[in-house]
Amino acid sequence: MKTLITNVDVFYDHALRPGELLFDDNQILAVGENLERDAQTRILDGGGLALLPGLVDTHVHLRDPGHTQKETIATGTAAAAAGGFTTIFAMPNVLPFPSTVEVMKEYLAHIEAESKIRVIPFATITVDEAGAKPVDYEAMKEIGITRFSDDGVGVQSNAVMDQAMKQAAQAGVLFSCHTEDMNYRKPGASVHEGQMAKANGWIGIPSECESEQLKRDLKLAAKHDLRYHADHISAKQSVDALHEAKANGARVSAEVTAHHLLLEENDVKGTNWKMNPPLRSHTDRMALIEGLENGDLDFIANDHAPHTAKEKARSMEQAPFGIVALETAFPLLYTEFVHNQKRWSLRQLIEWMAEKPAELFGLEKTGKIAPGYRPDFFLADLHADTVIDPETFLSMGKNTPFAGWPSVVCIDQTWSQGKRVFQR
Ligand SMILES: [Zn+2]
Repeated sequence: MKTLITNVDVFYDHALRPGELLFDDNQILAVGENLERDAQTRILDGGGLALLPGLVDTHVHLRDPGHTQKETIATGTAAAAAGGFTTIFAMPNVLPFPSTVEVMKEYLAHIEAESKIRVIPFATITVDEAGAKPVDYEAMKEIGITRFSDDGVGVQSNAVMDQAMKQAAQAGVLFSCHTEDMNYRKPGASVHEGQMAKANGWIGIPSECESEQLKRDLKLAAKHDLRYHADHISAKQSVDALHEAKANGARVSAEVTAHHLLLEENDVKGTNWKMNPPLRSHTDRMALIEGLENGDLDFIANDHAPHTAKEKARSMEQAPFGIVALETAFPLLYTEFVHNQKRWSLRQLIEWMAEKPAELFGLEKTGKIAPGYRPDFFLADLHADTVIDPETFLSMGKNTPFAGWPSVVCIDQTWSQGKRVFQR
């Protein structure tokens, strides 16, 4: 069935323009003004809202199977839809770990049955993320899995990573890496090793923890000519390393989270500000913003990491790392950088949250409103007057440092593959 949404400001050809959108279940058919319609076309009034391309997040923890007290595929994808996301990549630190073709096939069937939007799973880089034995990348590729991550941990052994990258490059797959050299992380460390750690007697995590293993990875990836992606970059040293690698022609991309763009170490007030990598200094945060603007960093991904209230009620040392992000990322980034600071355009934000992740992770016909593209989009009021309220989250995780933050964005509805999957 064809559907026509009228009375909307559609984001296409890099700008928001008054118009209409015509689509079916497979693709966008037309975008523009006064589109042709036939008697069978269903017509919906968009109420003057902005119609934006469905967002893409390459770094999401859905916790299912294995940790369903924190989140499920059903609740996580409902939260994603409520946040404007229509394609997300699921990190493989679930139980069982998708490290073999058999487990991955079951995982894919589970995703197919439960998810409200498109979910593309990562397989692990090493078996069970144990850092010892590389997964069979060729076999995974045969069932369509071409992206691998050990997110949550770095591969500590240089020899194992060397071997893994060699085999992955031969298979022509992508590694998306959480870099963390555990030689730099003391037991009980919870925040950046800086002013706040000192003032509160918290154990700090130095920037080298991330940047030293990133440098190792960049060297190995260049040696094997592997397509390499760096997860959740937080430190200026890491941005500098990526700048150098890119100048040398490496096939590398990198992501930065909304929280690392919005918060710094001095904002930390408790365990809802505890994540890994941690919120770092003002200098680091400015380097991330500038890195994104100048292309050293490529796009935004948000490391949605739900935990239970009970888990987050533990001490700074004992509480788990991570915050939820799917329902706050776009509203907060738009409010702060587009509306308040006027530092970014809507075009830049859409590039970093839809077009670039789709392009760099090899998704076809995704991330734009244009004929032939997937009918994935969301409608939002960009002049709203609202605040972030965790009680309204569809995610089971309420662990956010952004409760009470003002937002000028209210996401009204989200469409995935031509079907409405979220309506406020
Ligand atoms: Zn991570």
